[in-house]
Amino acid sequence: MKRITEPAREIDVVHETEVLVVGSGPGGLSAALAAARAGVDVTLVERFGCFGGNITVVGVEGMHWYRHEATVESDGIPREFEEAAKAAGAAVPESQSLSYEIDSEGFKLVADRMVEQAGIHPMLHRAFVAPIMEGDRIIGIITESKAGREAILAQVVIDATGDADVAHRAGAPCEKAAREDLMAASVMFHAAGVDRKAFLAGVQADPQTYKDWGGGGEWNIETSGKEDEMFSPFLHKPFQQAIEAGMIPPHLNTIAGTWGAAHESGELTYMNLVHLAGIDGTDPADLTRGEIEGRRQAMLALEALRSFTPGCEEIRLRNFGMSLGIRDTRKVQTVYRMTEGDVREQGRFEDSIGIFPEFIDGYGVLILPTTGRYFEVPYRNLLPQKVRGLLVSGRATGGEKIAHAATRNMACCAVIGQGAGVAAALAVRQARDLDALDVGEIQRGLLRQGARVH
Ligand SMILES: Cc1cc2nc3c(=O)[nH]c(=O)nc-3n(C[C@H](O)[C@H](O)[C@H](O)COP(=O)(O)OP(=O)(O)OC[C@H]3O[C@@H](n4cnc5c(N)ncnc54)[C@H](O)[C@@H]3O)c2cc1C
Repeated sequence: MKRITEPAREIDVVHETEVLVVGSGPGGLSAALAAARAGVDVTLVERFGCFGGNITVVGVEGMHWYRHEATVESDGIPREFEEAAKAAGAAVPESQSLSYEIDSEGFKLVADRMVEQAGIHPMLHRAFVAPIMEGDRIIGIITESKAGREAILAQVVIDATGDADVAHRAGAPCEKAAREDLMAASVMFHAAGVDRKAFLAGVQADPQTYKDWGGGGEWNIETSGKEDEMFSPFLHKPFQQAIEAGMIPPHLNTIAGTWGAAHESGELTYMNLVHLAGIDGTDPADLTRGEIEGRRQAMLALEALRSFTPGCEEIRLRNFGMSLGIRDTRKVQTVYRMTEGDVREQGRFEDSIGIFPEFIDGYGVLILPTTGRYFEVPYRNLLPQKVRGLLVSGRATGGEKIAHAATRNMACCAVIGQGAGVAAALAVRQARDLDALDVGEIQRGLLRQGARVH
């Protein structure tokens, strides 16, 4: 490969802040809110034009779809996202749980309001491109935007990019599975033109369960057994019929999945039907391929629904998510790496910063929190190795595969974010290193904010 040398240059320091959060998904938005509410100056940098990450950018609307009667919840900011969306008319009852599906468009406004009310300094349309280091300590970031390269200085930085962009470039050790072992990427879409009554009658006439997720292709899921007879808004048969009819090529037996809500308006939202293997979300060539191939497959899925699903005779595309949905990339090697045992066997930690119900969804496993079991997330799971002044939030925290099948879930990312935000604020107020904080004080700060730590 040819190489060039970029010339060195001076750039403007456009902003200084106490806590800088990079990325505004469930892990970043919650971190920014928690830090601001703990009384420090907070800046939230985001590469796109809205806050919310996968909720708003990809259209992942099912934040709490795991909730059943006995589920023990985390409380705090994850719950607040759902309540704020409901209050703003940006949520509808979800089809398989006791939760509300968050409207991905409406949540853009909900997040704007939360950021404004907390007094967070918003910086949209700026992508993080490089850390500013003083030895092994991060003291700010460089962003790239229509204004060119700019510097932002901070006392504490929280990496909530999902892909560990900041930690990776700052020199924290990270790991990433081989391309073929990464969780599938998805083009998410929402549909319109559905006869809701006829569609729901069809669902009732042939109800699907989580056991049906074990049907082969991408959907080859192992449950704990207790999920097998529970209703799931699963769509598989129309795509099999389309394969038999020659409308979909047989190798695309990966087209299958769930719908989120059937609206009175004829919309069928949160269509999670396209699954693309072999996409590395840190490689723009893969992202390009995934976007184009994903949209093509989404249109095949719509054609199959139109032909073989009652109530979908007039179904049409309403919109794609703004971006391909990426589930799995770099994980930071944090001081504590979550294990499969922690999430399967109710891990408990003295330095817990939050709890999450026993909800495991990924890498071929589905366990729903129907029994009241839950695990705790330790503060050490947010601390990267080798870089000071940095915390990791969201899906890039360290852990084994099956641990991530639990911690990657949006509500868990928001639990982690709230812990990161409170800890970052404490570090600023006490002028202490992040690894020298009194965990009891972090926990008391979280309890004051309505979170649950044990
Ligand atoms: C298709 C799909 C379906 C899913 N379904 C569910 C589900 O039903 N329920 C569930 O709980 N979870 C689900 N997940 C998982 C969940 O959405 C993610 O694990 C979760 O959103 C991760 O949160 P996060 O805050 O770490 O990252 P993200 O939500 O990805 O947010 C990261 C943010 O950082 C920004 N960013 C990234 N890089 C930069 C940069 N260099 N500079 C500035 N900003 C940057 C991004 O634009 C984004 O806004 C799904 C994921 C996908 C892709």
